[in-house]
Amino acid sequence: MVWLSEKWAEVDKLNDTITQYAREYLTMNEKEARKLQVIRGRENWYETVDNEGVKILMNLDDATCDCGMWQMNGLPCTHAIAVFIMYNKEFPHNHVHWFYSKQAWQLTYEGVINPILDESRWEKVKVPHQQRKRLIKCPMHQLVQPKGLNLMNAVQAILQQHIWAMFAPK
Ligand SMILES: [Zn+2]
Repeated sequence: MVWLSEKWAEVDKLNDTITQYAREYLTMNEKEARKLQVIRGRENWYETVDNEGVKILMNLDDATCDCGMWQMNGLPCTHAIAVFIMYNKEFPHNHVHWFYSKQAWQLTYEGVINPILDESRWEKVKVPHQQRKRLIKCPMHQLVQPKGLNLMNAVQAILQQHIWAMFAPK
C-alpha cells in the first residue's frame, strides 16, 4: 500500500510526457546522434554513417533500424534520433513506445489498496457448526473424514495412497 502511494506521488510529480528513464535514454543518445551523417533514401528509408564509415539503414514507417534497438526497446535509437533531429526536424520523444508515456505509468499505479485494521481488531464471527463443516470441505478432507483423522494424518494417508498406487503390482 505504501509502495503504491509513493509510486503514485512520484508519477504525479513528473513534469514530462514520457518517463524519466525514456528522457535520459533519448538525451544520452542524442549526443551520439549528432555525430552521424544522415542520407535520405526512397520513401521513408534513411542511412546513417558514422565517423568510421559504418552504414546503418532505418525505416521510419516501420520504426525499424538495422541496429535492432528501436524494435527491441521501443525507444528511438541513436540512428533514428539522428534522422528525427537533423533531417525531419521532429522531436524523438514523440516516437517512443506508449509504454514509456506518463499516461501508461499513471495507469500502472492507478489501483488503490485501502488500509485495513490489525487482525486483532477484526470482528469475531460465529459460524454455525454445519456451515463450518461445509467451509472446510475439500477432496482431501472427504477422503479422510470417515476415518476421523486430523489434517497431518490426512496428508500422510493421501501420500501413502499415491505411493501404494505407484508401486502396486499391475
Ligand atoms: Zn539504430
